[in-house]
Amino acid sequence: MRYISTRGGVSGISFKDAVMMGLADDGGLLLPQSIPHLTPGDIDALGMLDYPELAFQIISRYVSDIPAADLKDLIERSYATFDHPEITPTVNKDGIYILELFHGPTLAFKDVALQFLGNLFEYLLKERGERMNIIGATSGDTGSAAIYGVRSKENINIFILHPHGKVSPVQELQMTTVADDNVFNFAMDGTFDDCQSIVKQIFGDLEFKNKYALGAVNSINWARVLAQIVYYFSAYAQVRAQTNCQQVTFSIPTGNFGDIFAGFIAKRMGLPIRTLILATNENDILTRFVNAGDYSISSVHQTLSPSMDIQLASNLERYLYYLFDEDPRRVREAMATFQAEGRLQFDSATVARIGAELRSASGSSAATVTTIKNFYTATGYTLDPHTAVGVYAGQLLADSDIPLICLATAHPAKFGAAVREAIGRDPELPAVIAALDPTQKRCKKIPADIAVVKTFIAENAC
Ligand SMILES: *Cc1c(COP(=O)(O)O)cnc(C)c1O
Repeated sequence: MRYISTRGGVSGISFKDAVMMGLADDGGLLLPQSIPHLTPGDIDALGMLDYPELAFQIISRYVSDIPAADLKDLIERSYATFDHPEITPTVNKDGIYILELFHGPTLAFKDVALQFLGNLFEYLLKERGERMNIIGATSGDTGSAAIYGVRSKENINIFILHPHGKVSPVQELQMTTVADDNVFNFAMDGTFDDCQSIVKQIFGDLEFKNKYALGAVNSINWARVLAQIVYYFSAYAQVRAQTNCQQVTFSIPTGNFGDIFAGFIAKRMGLPIRTLILATNENDILTRFVNAGDYSISSVHQTLSPSMDIQLASNLERYLYYLFDEDPRRVREAMATFQAEGRLQFDSATVARIGAELRSASGSSAATVTTIKNFYTATGYTLDPHTAVGVYAGQLLADSDIPLICLATAHPAKFGAAVREAIGRDPELPAVIAALDPTQKRCKKIPADIAVVKTFIAENAC
């Protein structure tokens, strides 16, 4: 399998090079040059496998330059850190299937991708005799999952920027209490988008990027999307085993469009997904995109689901590539227009095409609280606020004749305040969270200034 850029300036590169490149050198995002297709028979056969075997079967279709035994080993080690034998179990609550993606070390779905990416980076760096300095922006969950993915790994340092005061206390503790020498945290004045924009600009400085061997962990890295495709197949198999369904609908709490894009690829591979429901909070740029063809920036709202407090969805460019019939020229034009005007407007024919694949609703903070409360009352099950936004949109938009699978993207204990507001008591604290020690925090507070970040990286790079 070879990889190309959405903007057409990079092509013919291997999986390993795509992983190491992160953002494509032409400013676009990397994609496989074709998407493997599976028959219904293949898909049912995959459903018999355990999670690491299934992951190998999906991932290996996109990786032709790592020996099978090595790839298997990387996958097995990545999911050995999960605390549930099924890795991503599906539980039926009141007729809704909750896909629990939070059984990894930081209790958020991002562990599924970042445990794998950490091992992959370590493997590739060792093979090449190289080093890497990872730089990433986080609205909370990416940072801790990335840090846990690479902590203590050799030849890797990691620098994570989070918006000061805008991540949950548990998320902040998870990131800043990791004692390994290769981990550096910044609390930056500004929003998540400010952090992300600084990271993007640093990657855009090719000289700096090459000099310090910068690597990315944001969902712009193809390997992350790839690892996430797997649980769509796993969830389908689990629900099909119980219901013998022919099709399913997924509802996905969405920020950067990474998770839902993995579902989109799963669908193009042949997984019988009727609808992908794109759930947003008050930061509804993607809902406006799906429902009205209006992709325009507005200001960022702070909500109860901070990992979705995002205006610019980096992975949308990957979706646009397919929406534009795989024409990089049209992607380039659209991104230039967006850069210049801060908005893209799509005509009604395009909106209809989008609507054939995606439906979308935006759940307010009030809707989030009500959904957590009602779901708890009806089932005794506690949703985290991100998952609740997905359940809200799913209940609103799913067809009732096929199973609805809602992605549970975080454990409720990561977002205690929202849960308390909804059900009047604290979520149960898992032992790994109770053990975090606030006196061990290590973090540098900085202004939103790219020069400060670059200087610090230059001084602390491996
Ligand atoms: C990152 C995150 C999301 C959004 O996922 P994207 O891939 O950015 O769309 C949703 N919920 C939680 C808990 C997250 O950490």
